Amino acid sequence: MVYDCAIIGGGPAGLNAALVLGRARRSIALIDNNRPRNAVTHASHGFITRDGITPSEFRRIAYEEVLRYPSVDHLQTEIVSVRKLESGFELLDSSDVRVQARKLILATGVKEIFPDIEGFYPLYGKSLFNCPYCDGWELRDQPLVVVSELPTFFHSAKLLFNWSKDLVVCTNGRAPLTDEQKKQLQAKGIVVMEQRIAAFVGQNGRLEHVRFADGTEIPRAGGFVIPRFVQSVPFAEQLGCETTPIGGIATDEWGQTHIPGLFVIGDAAYIGPSQLVLAAASGSRVAMRINTDLSDEEFE
Ligand SMILES: Cc1cc2nc3c(=O)[nH]c(=O)nc-3n(C[C@H](O)[C@H](O)[C@H](O)COP(=O)(O)OP(=O)(O)OC[C@H]3O[C@@H](n4cnc5c(N)ncnc54)[C@H](O)[C@@H]3O)c2cc1C
Repeated sequence: MVYDCAIIGGGPAGLNAALVLGRARRSIALIDNNRPRNAVTHASHGFITRDGITPSEFRRIAYEEVLRYPSVDHLQTEIVSVRKLESGFELLDSSDVRVQARKLILATGVKEIFPDIEGFYPLYGKSLFNCPYCDGWELRDQPLVVVSELPTFFHSAKLLFNWSKDLVVCTNGRAPLTDEQKKQLQAKGIVVMEQRIAAFVGQNGRLEHVRFADGTEIPRAGGFVIPRFVQSVPFAEQLGCETTPIGGIATDEWGQTHIPGLFVIGDAAYIGPSQLVLAAASGSRVAMRINTDLSDEEFE
């Protein structure tokens, strides 16, 4: 069987695409290896009607809704390679099963690369987070730490000030900060620490101290560690897609790459402030575009 569309990635982007395409009576292979990036967190915020929902409940509801549409097949497997055919695409999974489709959506998300600091992972998703829009409200007015090694350091520090005035911002010896930027932060009472961090120290998921390489310790209740993002799979680049300067896959506003029939949506396309609702919206848009393309082809 050749599906109308295969979707690799069943996060909010892929799921919303499957929902709209399923309702348009298109045959869909929705393929997911069940490794959601946000699984470490207890609650997801900022999606209207779903504010505070657990990531697992969000997925449960989404799959229940999508799989009501009989033309959507849910394949729980990992895709290991993707090939462009003369017409359409062929995917190979980890058990050597092949799937063919006329159109392909990559909704495979991204991976975070965090600064390598001891003690981070036991606290991640509990008192240390990566996105203030997702978890800033829960940490409001607490003594917070912000760690970034990126050129966007100053922007992150300014942003966090609206959630808590008790801020220590750390470059971990890496992010370039001008004297003027330091002055601006210090004028707001923000403490700037430029030495290397030795460890995050805490218990039961609660951050207690940040320990620096020179032995200094500062008590903190939580904070944000800003990661770098990279593609979670190399398929788009392997197929010849162009990347954006920050590592996203270049597409038009409908998710179409410059390779006919290949679409990239969700975090994988726009790497940046990532939100469930933005990913889901990109899924809805791409689905309408693909259904239009398929309809046009069927009338040619
Ligand atoms: C800790 C944390 C907390 C967050 N909190 C919030 C929040 O409160 N509110 C909010 O709006 N956003 C939050 N986000 C961001 C949000 O989770 C993402 O923006 C959103 O999940 C992106 O959706 P996506 O569909 O593009 O990708 P993802 O949700 O990452 O989904 C990608 C899917 O592709 C699958 N996949 C990847 N490769 C393959 C393969 N080779 N074969 C098969 N399947 C594959 C993965 O298993 C995964 O299910 C948070 C993120 C993190 C990390």
